[in-house]
Amino acid sequence: MQQCPRNMSHKEDSEGKSSHPTGLYASIPRTCLPIVYHPDYNITFMGLEKLHPFDSGKWGKVIRFLKEEQFLTDGNIVEALEATEEDLLVVHTKSYLNRLKWSVVVATITEIPPLMCLPNFLVQRRVLRPLRTQTGGTIMAGKLAVDRGWAINVGGGFHHCSSDKGGGFCAYADITLAIKFLFERVEGISRATIIDLDAHQGNGHERDFMDDSRVFIMDVYNRNIYPRDGFAKRAIKRKVELDWGTEDSEYLRKVELHFEGTLNEVQPDIIIYNAGTDILDGDPLGGLSISPQILLDAPWQGGGVALEASSCGSAVHMGRDRLSYFKPDRCFHQTTSWSEEKTMVHCRNSAGLLIGLTFTEFKGYSLV
Ligand SMILES: [Zn+2]
Repeated sequence: MQQCPRNMSHKEDSEGKSSHPTGLYASIPRTCLPIVYHPDYNITFMGLEKLHPFDSGKWGKVIRFLKEEQFLTDGNIVEALEATEEDLLVVHTKSYLNRLKWSVVVATITEIPPLMCLPNFLVQRRVLRPLRTQTGGTIMAGKLAVDRGWAINVGGGFHHCSSDKGGGFCAYADITLAIKFLFERVEGISRATIIDLDAHQGNGHERDFMDDSRVFIMDVYNRNIYPRDGFAKRAIKRKVELDWGTEDSEYLRKVELHFEGTLNEVQPDIIIYNAGTDILDGDPLGGLSISPQILLDAPWQGGGVALEASSCGSAVHMGRDRLSYFKPDRCFHQTTSWSEEKTMVHCRNSAGLLIGLTFTEFKGYSLV
């Protein structure tokens, strides 16, 4: 079903000032799928990137796989643009952005100590620019999700970064930015729900939306691993804390229960879904024991418009009529097409943190 585009006229603030000009909200041809990516997402830098268990080239692997399987071509995906400093200042403080001009700060945030020895122009070019491009992609996907009913950014999901603090490989608060851009610029978008199924607590967006009643956060995570941010937990409306080695049945039961509860409790205009591909058994960071199969079978339901990505896992999205799930596994299952009318399943390994995507049928929740 084709969704009608919303009125995308820009809002003005209480003083009648328009938001800053940005290239990230430029119109996208209807011939493009609402899937956002750029080759610049991938971080390669003399092997230094391999010092972190996170696979910093996984986004390209996903796209390569999807092209090989003829789901995508270069011509029908949306090319991400790098977020400018002005874009970033919608959320970030100037002092935080200035701190990123110190390589030692970036080395700490990305957990790659040797970066501190490199001149900052190299760190900017080889590490921060890819992350800014992914951040631009998330903001673009936010608008596309409203226009089309769903969208995916194949990167981003930097849920440990807040307006004035980075960490856990997350240097820019792309989730907060995507939501604030929508609130500021798109008529009719005033309530957001974040569903964060990454194995780690999403303390960045939680700190950013601590006192913001427009944003409802459901977070499901391993309570024993990074970041264990007690202050940020106060922002979570549906908190599901898991223990080491949580397995399929318990995980499914809890996610379904709280997902239903979330959708019954609030009716958001946008859902940001941060997929957790690091929940899988054997993941070097997540500490959970979820099998790939349950991500295919899980009857998650989606509602509203959505998008997203994940820093630790991969990308995702949801749709107005269904929710999809990026699923980590080496296997490939089946697909029919990218059409919103079809059921689609695929998955892909990327160095322990795999990626995949499942569309499951939606059970009836709808915003419109
Ligand atoms: Zn994670």
